[in-house]
Amino acid sequence: MPSHLLTQHACKELDAVDPLAPFRSQFELPEHIIYLDGNSLGALPKATAPRISQVVQQEWGRDLISSWNKHGWWQAQQRVGRKISRIIGAADDEVLVADSTSINLFKVVAAALDLHPGKIIVSERANFPTDLYMLEGLIRHLGRGHQLRLVDSSEELRTAIDGDVAVVVLTHVSYRTGRMLHMAAITAHAQARGAMVVWDLAHSAGAMPLQLSSAGVDFAVGCGYKFLNGGPGAPAFLYVAKRLQDRVQQPLSGWFGHARPFAFEPSFDAAPGIQRFQCGTPPIISLAALEVGVDLMLGVPLAHVREKSVALGCLFMRLVDLECFEWGFQLASPGDPAERGSQICFTHPEGYSIIQALIRLGVVGDFRAPDILRFGFAPLYVRHVDVWDAVQKLKLVMQERLWDRAEYRRSAVVT
Ligand SMILES: *Cc1c(COP(=O)(O)O)cnc(C)c1O
Repeated sequence: MPSHLLTQHACKELDAVDPLAPFRSQFELPEHIIYLDGNSLGALPKATAPRISQVVQQEWGRDLISSWNKHGWWQAQQRVGRKISRIIGAADDEVLVADSTSINLFKVVAAALDLHPGKIIVSERANFPTDLYMLEGLIRHLGRGHQLRLVDSSEELRTAIDGDVAVVVLTHVSYRTGRMLHMAAITAHAQARGAMVVWDLAHSAGAMPLQLSSAGVDFAVGCGYKFLNGGPGAPAFLYVAKRLQDRVQQPLSGWFGHARPFAFEPSFDAAPGIQRFQCGTPPIISLAALEVGVDLMLGVPLAHVREKSVALGCLFMRLVDLECFEWGFQLASPGDPAERGSQICFTHPEGYSIIQALIRLGVVGDFRAPDILRFGFAPLYVRHVDVWDAVQKLKLVMQERLWDRAEYRRSAVVT
């Protein structure tokens, strides 16, 4: 974008012709807040509260236990899974909503390890910590001598995947930098060496079109409360390629994954297909909230989502460069939009305090230790003019040294 077009007015003009603009009105967004943290907790769809109230008052309150049949509670995990399959480019019966991302990772990696004699699990040292922690716990629990091989770069990743590797566990879009890995190429590279890949789609699902089937992905997990706008603690999802489903067992073999749960048999017999990845009774109210977010997303052309996400990210980078260059923000995300997801990150030694001061001015981004300022762009409700205004606020924080106040230096529990 030429710099003479970088004005607040030009941003408003872009919003006026934005095909996604109408979706913003489907969200509850507090006035005077610019929300650039939809990659951590998506905004609240307006349809969610009435739907929750219906589930609570009518389905739970009036129809009580009959709702398992009458209101499709029993089918909900697979029904919402089917809807998510369309968002991530999978087949109908390859996706299930269940548990949390952490737990799903445990289930699918355990299933994958069962299929492979290798002892090595490859991941990135900079992966989201819960993924690494869950792998550590799984290895300890299995006690079969598996080892984590952690890499620090994409080049190292290629060479680390050799014939000894059983499973590669990668997050598609890095939570710290927004860097995006090449899903199809890495999957093919690993499979050519006999390894399987588990993709974590926490920062991808709902932010861009994905093609799990055509990329030949083995397993994936993802988050319901980020770009899918399912609400705090929304259940997560998992994907298992059809060709693998009946060959694998997952370790959390609860009754919801049984072939005949209501036969109450004394021993476990895995249900066919994706259902065997269910464990116990799902949180129906949270699932209903997630379904609202997913339904909303199903009405959105994902190619437009990606296009706008790239446009907002480029605009933000460009404006920070123009307006804030003197304060030494270092870009921590890839400069090439093809190499990143829907967030832009900078590093700055005063990152924590700067984010606190910005939040006080109504611009909500977040901070990731040790020095990363993270700004996510959820294309359904962030406007070009929000990006403009956010950078003006950032400039104000820096110009007036608003960050340099004792009140912004104390760390809260959740950053
Ligand atoms: C947000 C996120 C998670 C979250 O896991 P929970 O089990 O929902 O707490 C997992 N992995 C990645 C990469 C994430 O970004």
